[in-house]
Amino acid sequence: MNPARSDAYDVLVVGAGFAGAIMAERAASQLGRRVLVVDRRPYVGGNAHDRLDEAGIRVHDHGPHLFHTNAQHVVEYLSRFTDWRPYEHRVLAAVDGKLVPIPINLDTVNRLYGLDLDAQGMEAWLAQRAEPVAETRTSEDVVVGRVGRELYEKFFRGYTRKLWARDPSELAASVAGRIPTRTNRDDRYFTDSHQALPADGYTPMFERMLDHPLIDVALSTHFDDVRGALRWGHLVWTGPIDDFYDRRYGPLPYRSLRFEWETVPTPGGALLQPVAQVNVPDESIPYTRTVEYRHISGQDAEVSTITREYPSDEGDPFYPVPAPENRELYHRYAALAEADPDVTFVGRLARYQYLNMDQVTAQALVTFERVRARLAQAHAGAAGPFHPTARS
Ligand code: FAD
Ligand code: UDP
Repeated sequence: MNPARSDAYDVLVVGAGFAGAIMAERAASQLGRRVLVVDRRPYVGGNAHDRLDEAGIRVHDHGPHLFHTNAQHVVEYLSRFTDWRPYEHRVLAAVDGKLVPIPINLDTVNRLYGLDLDAQGMEAWLAQRAEPVAETRTSEDVVVGRVGRELYEKFFRGYTRKLWARDPSELAASVAGRIPTRTNRDDRYFTDSHQALPADGYTPMFERMLDHPLIDVALSTHFDDVRGALRWGHLVWTGPIDDFYDRRYGPLPYRSLRFEWETVPTPGGALLQPVAQVNVPDESIPYTRTVEYRHISGQDAEVSTITREYPSDEGDPFYPVPAPENRELYHRYAALAEADPDVTFVGRLARYQYLNMDQVTAQALVTFERVRARLAQAHAGAAGPFHPTARS
């Protein structure tokens, strides 16, 4: 990757995650624009950044990132920059002193209640417990409507309250609606057709995306560090949209996580937990899950690295909070963004959407096509150092 070599670029991209890296790669390779990517963090990859830790284990700094998708065009695009290593994620939940599969499946119910149901039996069992919900609006509605209140309380209420600092009844149905219920024994977390990780890690994939003669990359560089000194033609913003507008309507809420890391000896290459991720719904325990990275990296080693995730309001913005009042506030910012032809907002923070990596990839590819003509005309120095309309 090239360091910054100029004070004028056709396109300035803020953020080196999926959204920013893809927009930069497209603008350079498809349109021949000169691009500078800045990121306030000292590395590329955004929240998907990974690295080898001191013990040589490949870890994900911002929580486990499992790539899965049904979108063939997304796989094809990313495959230009990486090979893949198949990986299917499995998760157990610590409930009633047992470790049982989540998403809830036939084994979850049989093991938890000492039953021997088959698929039909489980359907009938659930039908007796599911509560009729007139209109499925919230995350509580979606779960009690599927599995009833008891399983909701065992698996969802505490976990969700810890992660989001809100009751599921205050969160959009789409949050817990991400987790299916199964009456078979499939214990994979995802069922998408493509479940694989970049063969040598996410960070090398991003480095290859950004390795282009027309792309420069400035790390440990906040937008505010360069906005007065640089000139650019078009700005691509992938940070929080409220940050761009100096929070003039008030801050959009984001949840963050604090990670507690531990590397412990595992003689003979043993693993510490049976699967990569163990969820802890019990509200009296402050962390939500433990993640053992060797399951994900597939590495053999005499040590193993594990994290515990403590949800927090402080720290990097990780999760936009899907609730109606936040959506309304976002729309006020989005109206400012729509009125601004020289700035493109793309990605999870810029659109304030709880999106997976494949969805952000698809969004960036579509967004690039939508603004292609504008980017093609962007010339170094047409806008910036101060953007005339966007920032007061
Ligand atoms: P980001 O990756 O957040 O990139 C934005 C970048 O902009 C950041 O690097 C930030 O430093 C930079 N930035 C912001 N403001 C400024 C500024 N003012 N100046 C300079 N730089 C700035 N998705 C999956 O598909 N599978 C998973 O298993 C999965 N697990 C996840 C687990 C966790 C804990 C989290 C938080 C997310 C997970 N995701 C997962 C979602 C995934 O992280 C996102 O879809 C993806 O990383 C979003 O990419 P992005 O480019 O939109 O944003
Ligand atoms: N969830 C839960 N219990 C679990 C797993 C998930 O209550 O054991 C809820 C929780 O609200 C979470 C949402 O379902 O935010 C989506 O879970 P997912 O694993 O997709 O979250 P992410 O991977 O984004 O952390």
